[in-house]
Amino acid sequence: MNCFNHEDKPAIGLCKSCLKGLCKDCLTELHNGLACKGSCEDRVNMINRMINSNSQVVRAARHQQRTFGVLSLFMGIGCSVFAVWAYFQLEGSFLPYFIGLLALFTLFMGVFRLSRKEQYPQPEEQEA
Ligand SMILES: [Zn+2]
Ligand SMILES: [Zn+2]
Repeated sequence: MNCFNHEDKPAIGLCKSCLKGLCKDCLTELHNGLACKGSCEDRVNMINRMINSNSQVVRAARHQQRTFGVLSLFMGIGCSVFAVWAYFQLEGSFLPYFIGLLALFTLFMGVFRLSRKEQYPQPEEQEA
């Protein structure tokens, strides 16, 4: 492939914004990608900023998912213990069964949240 602007020169890279092949004279190297000299620099800078903020959102979502999952598991274990205790203390009461159900539900939610975290791909590490 040759340069989009200079048919006689080989292209050495692609502009990150318009994806044209460009030679050394037409390309400018930005912080995190190549751009057409003089026309696509602003757009490529904007794309880089968007990618950065997007990976921060993904990272925050992963963290939140994990925190909720662990909290749910702890709550489920706590409820299970309480349900067993209540079963022996409060004979004939519906309360132990109610708490037991709650325990199963929160345990299930915890496992569900922890196992779902893979759906967020590990974001590419960006240089700050
Ligand atoms: Zn371009
Ligand atoms: Zn060129």
